[in-house]
Amino acid sequence: MVSVLRPGNPVYCVKPAALRAAAARFLEGFPGHTLYAVKCNPHPFVLQTLHEAGIVHFDGASIPEIAAVRGLGNGTSVYYMHPVKTRDAILTAYTVYGVRHFVVDHPYELEKVFYETNGAKDLVILVRFATPGGVARYELSQKFGAQPSVAAELLQQVERSGCSRGLAFHVGSQCLSPDAYRQGIGLAADIAGRAGVQIDYLDVGGGFPATYVNDVPPPMEDFFAAIRRGIDETGLSKDCTLMCEPGRALVASGLSLVVQVQLRKESSIYINDGIYHSLSETVTGGLSHPVRTIRVDGALAADKRNFRVFGPTCDSLDVLPQPYFLPEDIDEGDWMEIDQVGAYSNALVTRFNGFAPDTFVIVE
Ligand SMILES: *Cc1c(COP(=O)(O)O)cnc(C)c1O
Repeated sequence: MVSVLRPGNPVYCVKPAALRAAAARFLEGFPGHTLYAVKCNPHPFVLQTLHEAGIVHFDGASIPEIAAVRGLGNGTSVYYMHPVKTRDAILTAYTVYGVRHFVVDHPYELEKVFYETNGAKDLVILVRFATPGGVARYELSQKFGAQPSVAAELLQQVERSGCSRGLAFHVGSQCLSPDAYRQGIGLAADIAGRAGVQIDYLDVGGGFPATYVNDVPPPMEDFFAAIRRGIDETGLSKDCTLMCEPGRALVASGLSLVVQVQLRKESSIYINDGIYHSLSETVTGGLSHPVRTIRVDGALAADKRNFRVFGPTCDSLDVLPQPYFLPEDIDEGDWMEIDQVGAYSNALVTRFNGFAPDTFVIVE
């Protein structure tokens, strides 16, 4: 790709085989429905490839995401998994897009869902509860999730309404601990027990990790085993449908990013992508991606040293927080392939300073 295009702008290399392999791992290993969390990478080709690989359930958080899933055609189901929704979006999701699964984590949100759907009885309401933090790169329980007593009351209220009911949690993104899922399932069983309500759905959320230079997680099979163990320990009913909502673990390895060095000054290089574009997770998650360098006309030096890497904007904050260990003669015009960037990269690109990477190539 590099020798043909010699790209001066960043290029995302989409790898359908990696997306298919990640989908297969979940479809074969997870003992329930696998929902893809669209926000992680909403690119139409990514959605289509996962769908063709057998992913038929999707976690949407807004009307545009829900519409994108519906655009994949029949045979998909989309779940509205945002705990805070606009009233218009609840109504549109229900009446236009046929969404029946809604997440809530507060009594006022439950009222909104009941009101906007006109007291519909064909809903599945999932109550999201908070889990203990400390096991993931990104915590989510500060922002979302009812405390156990509130979650129990919400479940009782849903049962009284005649709708189907479930519990949901999210251990945080890039979670390195399989046991966090087992504990979440235990907490769900406690909440259902406290409420005296039998749940129809249990959603163990996303958070499944990808591999980075500084994060080498246990194999995905360990996470599936911990989830199975959690279910066995709690004796949840056989009629309870288990679900998960991976984003990162389905797409991280599905894209790499090819960037070009625009200038070198001593031990600093300036590249054409940065923290306001595809690489914000180097800051927000402290993630460090594997990198290889490419020189089309000739070879790069075998000896390496650390370089400071600056992004393309005029903003002084636009610098990658970790140094990169690169060939000592890297220079203007050389390329770097930054790998494992399928999650939260193109999804988070801004147009800041006139830079907005949007070139995608498919690499078979
Ligand atoms: C973001 C999100 C996910 C996906 O999280 P990952 O860490 O990428 O797996 C799943 N569910 C919900 C509700 C989310 O907000």
